[in-house]
Amino acid sequence: MSEAPILKDTNRSTGRDALQKNIQAALALSGAIRSTLGPRGLDKLLIDDDGRVLVTNDGVTVLETAKVEHPVAKMMINASSTQDRIAKDGTTTTVVLAGEMLQNAWELILQGIHPATIARGFRNAEQFVLSSIEQFAISGNEDLFYQVISTSLSGKGHTSMQNRITELSLEAVKILDTTKQQEFIDSSKIKIISQTGGQIEESYLVQGLALPKKRMSSDMPKEINDGKILLIDGGLEFRSMATDVKLNVTSTGVFNSFRKKELQLLQKKAEKIKQLGVNVVACREGIDDSVKKILVESGIQAYRRVAKSDLNLLAKACNGILVNRIEDAGQKDLGNFESSNNISADGKDLWVLSSTGCGVTIVAKGSTVDVVGEVERCLDDALGVAIQLYENNQILCGGGATYVALARALRRFAESVPGREQLAIEAFADAIEVVVRILAENAGQDPIACLLDVVAQQANLNSAHIGINLSTGKSADMKELGVLEPMSIVKQAIIGATEVSISVLRIDDVLWAKQDVEIPDLAE
Ligand code: ADP
Ligand code: MG
Repeated sequence: MSEAPILKDTNRSTGRDALQKNIQAALALSGAIRSTLGPRGLDKLLIDDDGRVLVTNDGVTVLETAKVEHPVAKMMINASSTQDRIAKDGTTTTVVLAGEMLQNAWELILQGIHPATIARGFRNAEQFVLSSIEQFAISGNEDLFYQVISTSLSGKGHTSMQNRITELSLEAVKILDTTKQQEFIDSSKIKIISQTGGQIEESYLVQGLALPKKRMSSDMPKEINDGKILLIDGGLEFRSMATDVKLNVTSTGVFNSFRKKELQLLQKKAEKIKQLGVNVVACREGIDDSVKKILVESGIQAYRRVAKSDLNLLAKACNGILVNRIEDAGQKDLGNFESSNNISADGKDLWVLSSTGCGVTIVAKGSTVDVVGEVERCLDDALGVAIQLYENNQILCGGGATYVALARALRRFAESVPGREQLAIEAFADAIEVVVRILAENAGQDPIACLLDVVAQQANLNSAHIGINLSTGKSADMKELGVLEPMSIVKQAIIGATEVSISVLRIDDVLWAKQDVEIPDLAE
């Protein structure tokens, strides 16, 4: 039968041919970033469309910058982005795991095993891993949390930067945890202010919501305790003319009366603010001098040109509501605070507002814009890891230890599974051991020897803590070395990688509309 007319302008590949092309695309992608895995991983130099340059060894950053067309490669990148969103770490691991799973699956397909059988075996293996991973976990305390965050920062920046970021993120999350009003820790209650100039080590934490702002006039009170705040999503100044308004001014009197009317309106707004019993005012736009005078006389602290995003943070911190029309503002819109203070830190002005559970601010410092950017990115990841640890304190050994322990358990489990699925479970076990091999490879060690050493030592000592010491190329106890990871990251990496592999295995028909999609050529 001839091809349906509807597919006339479509490129089509089916069956094994489609699968082979898809797996090739996945392997091209994982091959491109495997050299960045681990603390000894190398960096990639990325240049975007606008010629901006970024040096990074962060898997998800590399992938999201790459211009990739192939749909399967896009699926891998999505898995890595999801990992970044949910777990903040383990993004490279997810992609290399998926690559290895598909590579092993392909070998089984060549032996005549149906992709659907392999997919079933992989799902089975994943379920086994997720139900048995907890037996390898250690319950963490603050000291161990410190080591976990340090591990996740290894390979990024220098040691003293990693230490300071680890300290700050732990301190911030600890405060949020003890003052939280809901079940979960709200990461949006951490504000990061970046300042160029100074050393990374001089970065510091302020309790409360701090903004790089100064009150409008030094005649306003410097500090106010237990008060109410009004957040205005607009301004208290003369409105600028809309461009298409034409004023026919026949005499100066017309213009003056026009201004007078505006002034009266502004003063009415200021009086309204006074009546509401507000102590602090924050405006998105400007505040006119005439209004300022009234505010000063009333002992009100005022801030102008506060960014909308900061107004939203203020609203959250004080339980206030942003108002557009001051005329309609009422008591219900006002937020409450414990203190609103103007401080000066290292010659920079900060407005610090505190109330119960209002969050913390980290002032990130670095010598140049690029350095501060890197500090911010690392802080963001470290905070993400710290939050996960406070929410679930289960920790696993890194350096490939947990993956080898899981693989050993999986092989024993596979023996109990009849039929060809058993082979798929074994292939899954081989695939997750790739972490040790790549870590060793990137550290200039022999990957096979390292893997065999780790497997043998785990069996001899009956310990799931044995992983690879990258300095010596020998197996070592990762708990003693302080190479630790949150359980949630390992779990999520395995879930993400299995999901992509199964999706790819289930595709047996690829229909491309007209354009020819190339396999990405990302090899180093
Ligand atoms: P990802 O993007 O997947 O987080 P990384 O480049 O951050 O990739 O590497 C993480 C891997 O490096 C983890 O498997 C972790 O256990 C391992 N790792 C980190 N520090 C060490 C170390 N000092 N020794 C051995 N392995 C380490
Ligand atoms: Mg990492």
